[in-house]
Amino acid sequence: MTDAKDPPSRSHGRLKVQATAQPRELVVNKPDLHDVWTARVITLFPQAFPGVLGASLTGKALDEGLWQLDPVDLRIFGEGKHRNVDDTPAGGGPGMVLRADVMAKALTHAARGTAGRTKWPVMYLSPRGKPFHQARAQQLSEGAGVTLICGRFEGLDQRVIDEFDVEEVSLGDFVLSGGEIAAQALIDATVRLIPRVLGNQASTAEESFSDGLLEHPQFTKPATWAGRDIPDVLLSGHHAQIAAWRRAMAERLTKERRPDLWRAYCGTHNRDPGEDQEL
Ligand code: SAH
Repeated sequence: MTDAKDPPSRSHGRLKVQATAQPRELVVNKPDLHDVWTARVITLFPQAFPGVLGASLTGKALDEGLWQLDPVDLRIFGEGKHRNVDDTPAGGGPGMVLRADVMAKALTHAARGTAGRTKWPVMYLSPRGKPFHQARAQQLSEGAGVTLICGRFEGLDQRVIDEFDVEEVSLGDFVLSGGEIAAQALIDATVRLIPRVLGNQASTAEESFSDGLLEHPQFTKPATWAGRDIPDVLLSGHHAQIAAWRRAMAERLTKERRPDLWRAYCGTHNRDPGEDQEL
């Protein structure tokens, strides 16, 4: 494995993988900002951050200090000359498991200056976790920050999850090779809900999941493309009709694609899930 302080390029067979230094300027050499929503990320690949979070609106907001990113290099807490962080699974089987004692040191280090768990949860990205939802992103964005553990290999020793009362969160029913992409997705979903990060705040109120529905279809110019027209109502300038059409489309899409969401929506809106749609 690489030396954490100065990751050299590594050779994987014929492929050469080089850590990109440049994007890290967005996360290092920056003062620790108080009262700014902070994502602290325990990872074996700190150079993977900010990654795509450094682009577009989240990147601009990071640059402007509307939120901050604090990658914690797990390797630094590793054991011995080689800074080992993993070992073979107890009971046998393939792969390696991240050690509880090593992760405990990283978690203790990462706990500095954090508010209580309600305002600053500690989460392990894991396919076994509770599914991550828009409502959880909203909750997180209203807190002070989050500490995220990115797993690798076969995952993390159960004892450290229990000892530190870590919440397991899943991005979906699939298996990634590591928690970094999942962490970036969770951070992105959360950071864009922090006031002033998105230019147009109104856009988060209307999009998918905000009212328990999937979003209506979107169109833009040209008015006709490949023989397909933009629905007339959207060009009518009639705001009430446009709003009604969008809501009806959102309901129809949700009913067709996500019966689970549709049932929950009907429950909270006094509607019959079996009712016929009017469009
Ligand atoms: N052996 C584990 C999978 C390990 S995958 C199992 O079967 O449950 C390696 C790491 O990738 C995990 O520790 C986790 O941090 C991350 N990961 C994989 N899939 C994920 C998902 N769907 N959501 C969030 N994190 C995931």
